[in-house]
Amino acid sequence: MSTLTVEQITALRQDFPILDQEVNGKPLVYLDNAATSQKPQAVLDALQAYYTRDNSNVHRGAHTLSNRATERFEAARETVRAFLNARETAEIVWTRGTTEAINLVAQSWGRTFLKRGDLAVITALDHHSNIVPWQILREQLGIELAHVPVTPDGHLDQDAYDQLLKRGPKLVAFNQVSNAIGTRNPAAEMIRKAREAGAITVLDGAQATPHFRVDVQALDCDFYAFSGHKVFGPTGIGALYGRRELLEAMPPWHGGGEMIEHVTLEGFIPNALPFKFEAGTPAIAQVVGLAAAIDYLNAQDRQALEAHELNLLKMATDGVREIPGARILADHTDKVAVLSFLIEGTHPADIGTLLDQQGIAVRTGHHCTMPLMQHFGVPGSVRASFAFYNTEEDVRRLLEGLKKVLRFLL
Ligand code: PMP
Repeated sequence: MSTLTVEQITALRQDFPILDQEVNGKPLVYLDNAATSQKPQAVLDALQAYYTRDNSNVHRGAHTLSNRATERFEAARETVRAFLNARETAEIVWTRGTTEAINLVAQSWGRTFLKRGDLAVITALDHHSNIVPWQILREQLGIELAHVPVTPDGHLDQDAYDQLLKRGPKLVAFNQVSNAIGTRNPAAEMIRKAREAGAITVLDGAQATPHFRVDVQALDCDFYAFSGHKVFGPTGIGALYGRRELLEAMPPWHGGGEMIEHVTLEGFIPNALPFKFEAGTPAIAQVVGLAAAIDYLNAQDRQALEAHELNLLKMATDGVREIPGARILADHTDKVAVLSFLIEGTHPADIGTLLDQQGIAVRTGHHCTMPLMQHFGVPGSVRASFAFYNTEEDVRRLLEGLKKVLRFLL
């Protein structure tokens, strides 16, 4: 796989003005991309242009600005459809992000089609946003919730998954990539097996979409959720892909403007897809910004970006492995560029604070995956998560920074 040259990385970095700053007197090293990624100038320009020229409410107005806003808004839906390779734009529902998308599936599909005693399967590798919505549903409906355990090396236990499928779950929900440790799950195979077992599948794509191309038709999942802010777009916007037949059969979740075709004081007729699930004024500028982020990504050689990220991961992993007392969570190679680790005798939070003093931003804590941390028997970890705009110099700074921190702490 070809990777990026130093010149290409330098040029890419110029697209991200935020990277060019000092933090605590040192050039910023941003390694918290799994929490949120930075935004290229193209996204900032799209937001500015939208608010400067086109801002208006969508789908309502008989005036020019409203028509322009609506055109941009719906063109963005087509951009997201193509990004996920969904069949039609009716299958793309705007949400605030992955969290809201999964809650929508739980509260609309789940509450309608699951009943007391039905089995739903999640995993111990999931983010809280793919655990708690199903726990809420369990409280509401009395469904049974089971999870696929994680192996000591940080993979999903596929034998245990096969056993759970034999019990005939109605729903299987899991992440394509783990945010906490970077594991890339064999999603297509897991979906095929779930389908054979008669379950519908919900895929959390929050950490997959920033790193590689996704194709919901090839995956053959029923639902797919992702967040704009992880793919170099704005916060407050994301999307849910849903198979048309399922979305058609689901009742609206939120009620209000836009999601109706007709209302009387006696009742309402819901709007057509996808508007049935889009109550209220949407995040129009954010939608426009997300489309700009996807256009930006589409203009890159994404395989080369990924190869570059994986080179950085390898360099960082090799460096951390040499630190006495270091423990890497999920020290395998079926990963995206996320390095999660602890160092004996230190607390992750102290490492995070002392790295920040050197201008290095990492994440510390449980990463919204408390059950996974419980599995590893740790309170949390230090997580360095890479994007294509990171450099080998960033990795060197991280490793040197860690050495300094350890001299101080140990
Ligand atoms: N799932 C995964 C795997 C994530 O990494 C995140 C964000 N950390 C989420 C879900 C939730 O995404 P959001 O907060 O954007 O809704």
